[in-house]
This record gives sequence, C-alpha cells and structure tokens, in this order.
Amino acid sequence: MPIHHLADMAWPEVAELARRTQVALVPAGATEAHGPHLPLQTDVIIAQGSCRRAAELLSMEGIECAIAPPFYYGVTNFGMPFAGTVTILEETLSQLVVAVCRSLAGHGFTRIVFSNHHLEPAHFAAIKEGSRQVIESGAARVAVPDVREERWAVTLTDEFRAGSRHAGAYETSLVMADRPDLVNEEERLSLAPVWIDLPDRIRNHGAHTFKEAGSDRAYFGDPASASVEQGERIFEALANMIVTTVKELLV
Ligand SMILES: [Zn+2]
Repeated sequence: MPIHHLADMAWPEVAELARRTQVALVPAGATEAHGPHLPLQTDVIIAQGSCRRAAELLSMEGIECAIAPPFYYGVTNFGMPFAGTVTILEETLSQLVVAVCRSLAGHGFTRIVFSNHHLEPAHFAAIKEGSRQVIESGAARVAVPDVREERWAVTLTDEFRAGSRHAGAYETSLVMADRPDLVNEEERLSLAPVWIDLPDRIRNHGAHTFKEAGSDRAYFGDPASASVEQGERIFEALANMIVTTVKELLV
C-alpha cells in the first residue's frame, strides 16, 4: 500500500481513502534555530519522518492512514534570539489544532494522532489544549503522544533522557537519516558538547530562551557524535510510538 500524503492527492482520492480508514496523522514542528549545523525545519523533518515510517508499519498490518501537511509554525520563544526563528501565540496554535481536526473529522478522519517534535513546553501545551477541545466537542478522538513522558522516553537515547535535547546527537542523527543534504557536516564536527539539562533550566532556573539556558549557539548535547544509524534507531522508536497510539485510538 502506498503512503497517503493528503497534500499530494486529489479530492476524489481522499474521499476514497476516507471510506477505507478513519486514521489521520498530523506532523507538527516549528521554524526554529537548531544550532549552526541543522536547518530551521529540523522538527518538521523529524515529525514527517516519524509519520512516514509509522504509516509504512501500519500498512503492513492492514491499517491505512492519511498524513496531513505538517505544521511549520509553532510557539518558539526559546529560539527567538536566533535569526530565522518564527513564533506564534499559544492560542493561535490551539485554534489551528481545533480547525485542522474539525476539518479532517468532517471528511471522515475521526481518529487523529499528532506527531509533535517541537518540545518547547508552551508549544506542546497549546497542541494538547487544542486536542482537548476537540475531544470534548466529540468531533474526533485525538491523541498527542509526548516523547518527554517516561513511557516513550525510555525507548529513546541517554542524551535525550539527560535533557540535552535540542539540536544534539538525538535531533542531528534524525536529520542525517532523512535529509543529510541539509546538515552542515563541517560545522557539526567542529561543535564541542554542551551538557546542559534544558528542561531543568526551564523549570528551575527560569530560562526563557536558549541563550538564558546557557547555549549561545542554539544547541545542547553532542552533535558531533550523531550518526545515520542512531537516527534510524530513534526513528524506529518514534514510529512505534505512533503505531501504538493509533491502535489505542482504534480500540
Ligand atoms: Zn527540535
């Protein structure tokens, strides 16, 4: 079975697909500085790559799904000191989540799973708030699996669990696996590790930007140790998170 990217399909094809499945995946990222070596759309690449792999796994089990166009914009205040970063208001993001889910549900996709890989707390909270409103309205069943939760974090890397989880080996490996053309290798290999627990700096030290959290180049962790193999392993875990969540919504 092919992978169904909604934006690439004509409407009669989508109508056909909606007769066969209720499942839609929505990739969510941001346009945000990710070190001097990764593209601004890093989180979008991770979200889309996870959805594509999940769709392949699901299709092997006979479950089709639609992959919606990604969210390229999010709540991205931490990256604002760095050129190119674009942020939107939390309520704007929540409203977008509601509008997208209501539209998809109206066309028959009433089981919706977000694949969000921009981990800024206010951004994740805004997506969850939008999904809560959709669930409460009864329009669709929506799930927002959160990689920061223990259940999923145990399937990821030591660096991720240690909190150095922005543009380090974790995210760099994922981009290397899917879009190596967008990684500046010379820059990547020159970067010294920045071992800072970002969630701790946010929660306990009041950091509002990457700079305040202690990184003046918008990366944490150890990008130089990233690899394609590591990226494929992480993608497998992220795809499995979506597959499990889809199955939970279908029961
Ligand atoms: Zn990121």
